[in-house]
Amino acid sequence: MSILIEESKCTGCGACTQVCPGSLLKLQDAKAKIAKPERCWGCCSCLKECPVQAIALYLGEDMGGRGGRMHVQKEGHLLHWIAALPGGATKIITVDSRDSNKY
Ligand code: SF4
Ligand code: SF4
Repeated sequence: MSILIEESKCTGCGACTQVCPGSLLKLQDAKAKIAKPERCWGCCSCLKECPVQAIALYLGEDMGGRGGRMHVQKEGHLLHWIAALPGGATKIITVDSRDSNKY
């Protein structure tokens, strides 16, 4: 599992570098970079922190795979998980962050 950082969207705010549990993300020339993508375990913390949706997760085979990607758009307490699937379809799953750890 790994992520894709779209440099053209990245503003260099550094938010993602603060939350990666593996310290894999660094700023270089004011852009976020992932040092060792093979060590990313897809926790999605960086996706949720990025304010401009510059980070996408490559989806595994079980979730569309083959080039599918997902990013997160925040709207207040809501997190919209937007999956762009191979073939052009889009799936959106909305989660209220206040419900985290509720069950
Ligand atoms: S998905 Fe998680 S492990 Fe991977 S780079 Fe982002 S924060 Fe780090
Ligand atoms: S959180 Fe997003 S905009 Fe900020 S440095 Fe990371 S990728 Fe760039």
